[in-house]
Amino acid sequence: MLTDVQPDDKLSKQLQAAYVKASLTKRDMLGAMIGAGMSIATARSELYGVTELNRQRSAAYADNSSRSQQSVPQSTDQAEYVQRLWMHQDVMANRMIETLNKGLSRGISVTAMNKLTRSIPQSGDRIDDNLATPMNQLLSRIDGLMQTQSVENTNEGKRQAYEDSDVKFVMWLTEEDYHVCDICQPLDKQIFPFGQAPIPQEDTHPRCRCQLVACDEDGNLLDGQLDGMMTGEFD
Ligand SMILES: [Zn+2]
Repeated sequence: MLTDVQPDDKLSKQLQAAYVKASLTKRDMLGAMIGAGMSIATARSELYGVTELNRQRSAAYADNSSRSQQSVPQSTDQAEYVQRLWMHQDVMANRMIETLNKGLSRGISVTAMNKLTRSIPQSGDRIDDNLATPMNQLLSRIDGLMQTQSVENTNEGKRQAYEDSDVKFVMWLTEEDYHVCDICQPLDKQIFPFGQAPIPQEDTHPRCRCQLVACDEDGNLLDGQLDGMMTGEFD
């Protein structure tokens, strides 16, 4: 729930720091405005991301558990996502400020100013001396972060559901298409006692699409496992 999220202390500290900095020189003020703007954008990503990751975790639990909705685990603080998100933001805000300072230190012409402030879509070219470029790099990193954290939360919700449902064995399944990599291919259809299987993504590679599905010791999938996969969030 959005209303559960506390006002962000990190953000207010960054804004205060930006305000102090802004009172020094015009150049610092521009830099501080960039920093503050990036902080606001990142705080919004954080709010959205934490809520969305918790939703995915709960959905994965619900899809893989016979238990009632009440036993769906509580939301977590998604600390790893939040920490990495702000790390990316710090790096990119600093790059934008560097880009700005580089432009200003040369003495800025109209052409250079246009280049500096030209808006470029996220999928567009990366160009030097342009503020949108580091911002777009940040956005791409946030997208990538969100994808890996989605896989992690979906897997974790499912793992909790299996644990609570007393699942004894799991089978590793790849997507069995042309994109399956050399790391995952040998694991396809291997059976592991629950809790001893490698974990998709964590033990393989980022954005791994593989899944562990509940089975018996002979590798017969338990009821409903394939239905869950057809409607799941994996693709
Ligand atoms: Zn994989």
